[in-house]
Amino acid sequence: MNQYRYINQMSINSEVELETRLLKIKHIALDMDGTIYNGNTLFHFTLPFLAKMKELGIKYSFLTNNPTKSIDSYLEHLASMGINATREEMYSSAQATIDYLNKNFPEIKRLFILGTPSMINEFEKDGFISTSDDPDDVPQGVVVSFDTSLTYPRLCRAAWWIEQQLLYIATNPDKVCPTDMSVTLVDCGSICSSLEQATGRKPDIVIGKPDPRMLEGIQQHYQLESSQIAIIGDRIYTDLQMAYNAKALGVLVLTGETSLNVAENSVPRPDIIVDDLGEFGEMLYKLYNDRLCINNIKKQIQNLECNRYEIL
Ligand SMILES: [Mg+2]
Repeated sequence: MNQYRYINQMSINSEVELETRLLKIKHIALDMDGTIYNGNTLFHFTLPFLAKMKELGIKYSFLTNNPTKSIDSYLEHLASMGINATREEMYSSAQATIDYLNKNFPEIKRLFILGTPSMINEFEKDGFISTSDDPDDVPQGVVVSFDTSLTYPRLCRAAWWIEQQLLYIATNPDKVCPTDMSVTLVDCGSICSSLEQATGRKPDIVIGKPDPRMLEGIQQHYQLESSQIAIIGDRIYTDLQMAYNAKALGVLVLTGETSLNVAENSVPRPDIIVDDLGEFGEMLYKLYNDRLCINNIKKQIQNLECNRYEIL
């Protein structure tokens, strides 16, 4: 354990347990901003990390609470930084909301959606009908998200349908979206607060980190137990809280908004704290190679013993 500086000994209390937990990992759910890049700048260790995971046969997904862009837009953004990801490797809170509805409310197809045109497009591609701002165009549910194209009439229409006691889902809990611009980006959680003031209702369900339902689509798609997933991120109250809620391995990187001092005193405590993604990649890579060496030595000993019996 000494070789790793920041292991939460409340959850991982021996080197054997650390190895057991790490060797179980089949999939890594990666936060994006603050974890693999900062704004538009990819961290220098991200591409080598992804290459190492491919070599070890560990799959990964990029997870974001931000539903404003379509999956294709995110893939273009990643490609512009040198990451060639596939559609199934990208997962946003909009996709998680679609998966949640399909699984739990398959009869609901007509939705009034407060969301960007590209998010509404994602829903329509999946067979949903986006109802218009018209009291005669009756939906079966309301989805509220980080709507950067929000207009007052649509906000009022959403409030009207919420008052009619329709199913009400929020894509993500974030109150503001981090930005380096001189503006406060009012996010889904704050839009929901305004609707709560108007209607007295909170959303029935809030998808997105830290809700473990954000992982359900990935778990179903890859047939994974939560103990086979590591969640790597830079925020305690979303990324690490989701890992804790989902009983997955929670790995905090210090390349984003959380300092070591804050992390060491946080609730929940991350299972593992690393300086950056590269350090966690090295940890896994070394463990797999050590295990490979041990297995090779065991095989050689077995072969020697077989030869000895043959000689005898
Ligand atoms: Mg982040």
